[in-house]
Amino acid sequence: MTDCHFCKMVSGEIATDVLYQDEQIFAFRDINPQAPLHALIIPKRHISTLNDVPQEQAPLLGQMMHTAIRLAAQEGYDERGYRCVINCNREAGQSVFHIHLHLLAGRAMQWPPG
Ligand code: AMP
Ligand code: ZN
Repeated sequence: MTDCHFCKMVSGEIATDVLYQDEQIFAFRDINPQAPLHALIIPKRHISTLNDVPQEQAPLLGQMMHTAIRLAAQEGYDERGYRCVINCNREAGQSVFHIHLHLLAGRAMQWPPG
């Protein structure tokens, strides 16, 4: 999608701190980190919200989640703990409408989240 911020990162039009990429997945550091490790894991193809993932594309969500698992381990947080979050639509706090999984680690987290 041409006017999507995250699509522009995937294409290289906007520079970012890339942590991982493969054919389907792109992962980078959040520009406004909420924890010592704050990564965003996105599909390279544009999907606006979780509501737009049909069942046949569910494996893509698994790829995103497994990328988070690997990055958490790579950064040394697998034993300490980490949190994975996807905000869906405005009331949940979604501000960029290209689905992204937040991976947060490196500090004690509160529950319930705000
Ligand atoms: P959400 O509020 O769940 O939609 O999360 C959007 C996230 O994207 C926020 O945590 C922002 O800090 C992050 N973000 C926005 N623009 C950029 C950017 N250019 N590079 C990295 N992260 C970004
Ligand atoms: Zn996009």
